[in-house]
Amino acid sequence: MTVTHENNWAGNLTYRATAIHRPTSLGELRTLVASTDRIRALGTRHSFHRVADTTGALVSVDGLPRQIDVDSAASTVRVSAGLRYAEIASHVDGFALANMASLPHISVAGACATATHGSGVGNGSLATAVSALEMVTATGETVTLSRGDPDFDGAVVALGALGIVTAVTLDLVPAFEVRQYVYEGLAFDEDVLAVLAGAYSVSLFTDWTGPTINQVWVKQRTTDPELAVPAKPADGPRHPVPGMPAENCTQQLGVPGPWHERMPHFRPEFTPSAGEELQAEFMVARVDAMAALRAVYEIRERICPVLQISEIRTIAADSLWLSPFYQRDAVSIHFTLAADPDAVRPVLSVIERQLAPFAARPHWAKLFTLAPEVVRSRYPRLADFRDLTRRLDPEGKFRNDFVTELLAEPAGGARS
Ligand SMILES: Cc1cc2nc3c(=O)[nH]c(=O)nc-3n(C[C@H](O)[C@H](O)[C@H](O)COP(=O)(O)OP(=O)(O)OC[C@H]3O[C@@H](n4cnc5c(N)ncnc54)[C@H](O)[C@@H]3O)c2cc1C
Repeated sequence: MTVTHENNWAGNLTYRATAIHRPTSLGELRTLVASTDRIRALGTRHSFHRVADTTGALVSVDGLPRQIDVDSAASTVRVSAGLRYAEIASHVDGFALANMASLPHISVAGACATATHGSGVGNGSLATAVSALEMVTATGETVTLSRGDPDFDGAVVALGALGIVTAVTLDLVPAFEVRQYVYEGLAFDEDVLAVLAGAYSVSLFTDWTGPTINQVWVKQRTTDPELAVPAKPADGPRHPVPGMPAENCTQQLGVPGPWHERMPHFRPEFTPSAGEELQAEFMVARVDAMAALRAVYEIRERICPVLQISEIRTIAADSLWLSPFYQRDAVSIHFTLAADPDAVRPVLSVIERQLAPFAARPHWAKLFTLAPEVVRSRYPRLADFRDLTRRLDPEGKFRNDFVTELLAEPAGGARS
């Protein structure tokens, strides 16, 4: 048996898959799926744990024909699932995606499968832009699910457990221009939630060393009124991670520019974030945000030794069963951490304990140590998702250890 020895983006794990396939046609993919016992989709490998991994075969859809078909009348774009956001952004003339993550390097399918998000009180996760998805299911058949279909809300954020997504249709909005500003030194006792809600997309960066937000990143549509932030405007471009070059980041200082050159923090042609890092992120209800932030601040002495930077963002509630934002307007508390799994793991447990009163939901693609039953208890539709996997994938072809543990039936058969 050949082992691939291929790593994820962060380099903290080696996939255990026996092979990574890259079919170049839908027919080839269908035959591969139908004839393989254990298989999972792999995107651009930006997840920090084994959510994508399998001891069977991995398959990347980035070799399938590239399609970016805008339907102007419907304000949608149908794209090949393996495309990266950066590849799509410049091909939707006159239109825009409502939001992007901090980086445009990630695949659409991988981002949506894990409910990847940007920021903005009015912006849902990137998965909420999906209005239809096409996938190859366990038998090799193709299935299209559209918004409004009974299974649709269970199938968009699916952790790769339902099939291999080959194309997605995304909602578009009219193209917009953005001015991006960075401010420094926002006091924690200012109305942080008002600042987060004050512009189209706002991110706060803090190292928790004092009662101050180090940087406030404001992404403001040029048609919106200017947000007055009670902090000092940065006197030059900034990178959120201390010591990293600002040239890796999108244009700041209020220079107006197209949505896709401002909504991500990082430019597509550079390494995003720090590069040498691990990440974790926990989502709490927006109403609990200040209490949760105070709870994290209380344990800063445990966090700071392994922390590069934290980011705080807002995400609007949605109806997707496995979304960390399911029926809950959220604030996310993110940690860019040292590339040292042994040092990071105990700190994650401490953060998770501190955030337990808020039933924090972990980011599906980032590190966490919560037991599967705890995670399950925080997802009201988990049992429905389990049922959906059984219907679409009765043999468990797309399951891996992570999904199997997450979906394990509780002892006694009670539904959770
Ligand atoms: C530097 C950096 C910055 C990040 N910034 C953000 C951020 O701003 N916001 C945020 O929310 N997250 C962020 N993330 C996390 C990132 O968005 C997730 O890891 C996301 O899953 C990446 O997509 P991917 O294509 O790399 O997925 P992979 O890691 O390759 O796979 C993730 C999951 O998607 C599934 N999948 C992939 N392709 C398919 C397919 N075709 N069909 C079915 N399932 C599929 C896989 O099976 C797996 O379960 C960041 C990560 C990094 C490394």
